Amino acid sequence: MENLLNKLHAAGLDHTRVSGEDAITLWRHVGEHLASTPMQRAYCLIISAEYRFELNQVQLSIDELKQALDILELPQHAAEILAVKNSLCERLGELGDYHSALNEYVSATTIAVEHSYIDQYVTAVIGLGNLCDTYGDHARALRYYQKIDSIDLAITSRTLRLRYKLYMLACFIKLQRLNPAQDLLTECEELSILVSDKSLTGQILLYQAKLHRLRDEHDAALKALAKAQYSASTNHASWLALMNRIEVAYTLSAIGKQPLAVLLLMSKLKKVESHGSPVLSKQFYDALSHVLASQAHFKTALEFEKKAYAIESELMKQVPITELGAAQLRRLTRFELQLKLIMSEIENKELKETTKQHKSTVAQLQQDVLTDPLTSLKNRRWLDAKLKELLLSNTPFALLVIDIDHFKSINDELSHLVGDKAIVNVSHELIEQFRRRDASCVRFGGEEFLVIVENVTLQEAQQLAEDYRKRIYQFNWQPILGERSLTVSIGVTLHHAGENTQRTFHRADKALYRAKALGRNQTCCEE
Ligand code: GH3
Ligand code: MG
Ligand code: MG
Repeated sequence: MENLLNKLHAAGLDHTRVSGEDAITLWRHVGEHLASTPMQRAYCLIISAEYRFELNQVQLSIDELKQALDILELPQHAAEILAVKNSLCERLGELGDYHSALNEYVSATTIAVEHSYIDQYVTAVIGLGNLCDTYGDHARALRYYQKIDSIDLAITSRTLRLRYKLYMLACFIKLQRLNPAQDLLTECEELSILVSDKSLTGQILLYQAKLHRLRDEHDAALKALAKAQYSASTNHASWLALMNRIEVAYTLSAIGKQPLAVLLLMSKLKKVESHGSPVLSKQFYDALSHVLASQAHFKTALEFEKKAYAIESELMKQVPITELGAAQLRRLTRFELQLKLIMSEIENKELKETTKQHKSTVAQLQQDVLTDPLTSLKNRRWLDAKLKELLLSNTPFALLVIDIDHFKSINDELSHLVGDKAIVNVSHELIEQFRRRDASCVRFGGEEFLVIVENVTLQEAQQLAEDYRKRIYQFNWQPILGERSLTVSIGVTLHHAGENTQRTFHRADKALYRAKALGRNQTCCEE
């Protein structure tokens, strides 16, 4: 990609200055005249497809993605193929071509398993489950989502993990299985602390409200909805905003305020009729019909029920239901063994790679490749090599995950530049704190840090973390942040001999989100 951008630059083209139709023309030109490898040509098509999608040219966008797929080849482009297939499926679904979407999801699961891409496999299985949800078979959708449970630990993206659990949660609620729903909701709330995605947080609140309503806790439901509305409006997620409105209507109707509920829904009727997706429209008509019926307006209620029914039967015709049945699920079950193998291979790979490449890797990598430019702490690349070294020498170590509390608001209130200064100071204090220990400090991501302390007990590690937390709490932030304070939350765990480091990270993460959930500015441990 960088190569291609250099070519653009050399040809005097500036892709950052164009958008819409101009961008499409530019990328077509680049694809025809400047791109020299299949990969580069595919990139041009993929980018152009994105612009077309923005312009609502869904079919043309699909065509270009398909052309890109024709150019890309397995095995070398497996990652790109899976990413393109994923976008393609979403767009096919949008056009109502569920049949083609299903075929693409099925082929994506096969490719992902064959080439060991766990996250992409999960994405495709979610897609299959979504198809079942589309035509209203939530029990079957749930069976798809539950296929992911056994590889949960191997998912690298926290957002993806939260997404599949939220889909499961929605199914439990639809199926009125309130106890498992409550457990899963708690789990999602914990996960969401480490995932900063307003729309997912909004969904959690929506499901919380639904659970309250189903338990007749209407006040609590309305409170959750008020919060959810806030996150939906800040995020411009019109889908979520409408779902919230529907839920508010159900709750109002349950407490005897049907006229208000009707008003609330009717004000969105035109919008839904002009550009609501079928699934959303169906939910909307269902709600409207329910609310009207409870107000004894049976005739209008029946009209909307008919509309909902018409959509449902149309969806049942369009979605290839039989192909999503038991045979498809059995196919995924057959993958399970292979997936377990991939998981254990990931574990073993850490060790194998260590023996084979470790020495050369470490020697090859220059200092600057291993250091974070802002803070001079070690970066993730360095961390990978370090972890391999520790595993190879069987060195016991503790893992501390440190995350600045409410950092986003520091950026928002005081600017990104001040945010950067805060990060630099937090890093500097980290180096000072661990200077005399056999410890390695890493900038793991934006405002998240990692410390590996070798040869310590969990108690010692916790004490070290606690000392650092206090140090940050007591640090004089006034010159940088004025009246605002800054704190960190820390999750601590020990690496268990022989375990895959993913598991260690998972435990440290769990400890961190406990620290966040308990109010931040604290240290939590996981055995
Ligand atoms: P929490 O207490 O739950 O951790 O809240 P938070 O606001 O710290 O967490 P969140 O993950 O929502 O926000 C992290 C923010 O950090 C978002 C991003 O804009 C900011 N950020 C990430 N990297 C950098 C960076 O290098 N510099 C600056 N200034 N900000 C960054
Ligand atoms: Mg944070
Ligand atoms: Mg963070």
